[in-house]
Amino acid sequence: MTHKLATLSFDDGTWTDIRFAKSLREMKIPATFYLPSEYLDMFHYQMRPSEIRKVYAGFEVGSHSRWHSHPDDFRKTLEVASKDGEWDIRYAREYLQEFFGREVRCHSYPFGVVRWRPNFPSLAEAVETQGFDFARMMMRSRQEVERPIDRYRMKITAELPVDFDDIGEHEAVHLVGHSFRLVKQNEEASVFELIKDMKRNGFEFMTNHDFFTETWANHE
Ligand SMILES: [Zn+2]
Repeated sequence: MTHKLATLSFDDGTWTDIRFAKSLREMKIPATFYLPSEYLDMFHYQMRPSEIRKVYAGFEVGSHSRWHSHPDDFRKTLEVASKDGEWDIRYAREYLQEFFGREVRCHSYPFGVVRWRPNFPSLAEAVETQGFDFARMMMRSRQEVERPIDRYRMKITAELPVDFDDIGEHEAVHLVGHSFRLVKQNEEASVFELIKDMKRNGFEFMTNHDFFTETWANHE
């Protein structure tokens, strides 16, 4: 790799995304927002669909399942891992594509979990069958970010907030954030300082899909 690659993704589709999206747009930083499809209603954002579309305009939207089902939620777990194991993933993707009027090509596993329990089907297979190009976990691996080994088990470098010193030496950096958590921790400003530092040090920011496409070329 001749230049340093960076990507940012934010999970969960909470209203605090509005603030991050606004600042990222002003800074011309591409990013990916992974949204649970069922969260895109008025009660969640207190906004109309047209306004929600404006929040994410220009950014990549990825799928983060329908309900962000938790492994401990027995009923929903059964739903997610139902016989074909694909329904939740298929429905979420179709809904998001319809809502935003564009293709959704990346998936992020809720809680980073690819297989709920030992006997349950792997969600990675469902994600592949449903035509996603890539899927992202929450597992960290510097080496596998730069040289991925499984396009449906893409790793991350770190979760925000993180110090530049911890990631600045890497050739490819994938940072993940939860905007509601960053706001609660009062870390909003530090995230944008980090982005500026990274740009100053030669990192080029791109969407998750572009980043995965570039790093996947190194997978062999
Ligand atoms: Zn999540």
